[in-house]
Amino acid sequence: MTRLRIGFGVDVHAFGPGDAVWLGGVRVPFERGVVAHSDGDVLLHALCDALLGAAGLGDIGQHFPDSDPSFAGVASTGLLRATLERVRAAGFEVVNADLTLLAEAPRLAPHRAAITAHLARELGLAPGAVNVKATTTERLGFLGRGEGLAAHAAVLLEARA
Ligand code: MG
Repeated sequence: MTRLRIGFGVDVHAFGPGDAVWLGGVRVPFERGVVAHSDGDVLLHALCDALLGAAGLGDIGQHFPDSDPSFAGVASTGLLRATLERVRAAGFEVVNADLTLLAEAPRLAPHRAAITAHLARELGLAPGAVNVKATTTERLGFLGRGEGLAAHAAVLLEARA
């Protein structure tokens, strides 16, 4: 049986009133916030879904339902920690993670090092095993019109011996 498992996750949130967005566990000041039940951190939500997918554990909505008031306004780093507990309990360790933010704004670059460091610390990985990148959609679609932001995440897990 193969010891390596790949996973992929996607998340989208609409912009709403506010003065900051959370990206990868880092508060990024911005002219808007996001509409979300939790803190609306698209990078962390995509990452959690990628981890759960790789482990064959379903998705974030099954584990942390929007209908559960205990997750209201919750910091998504807590969701990541709870996700990692489940992934490790299923017998896996994280090998690496690759995340992409899709948005016209805010710009990722000034925050990339802080986000990478936070994610590496939380995942228990060397910074070189966590990659965070960004792209615009060339002003196309809802992301291009600045209506919200999205993230994709890919992870590799290895089964413990
Ligand atoms: Mg989300």
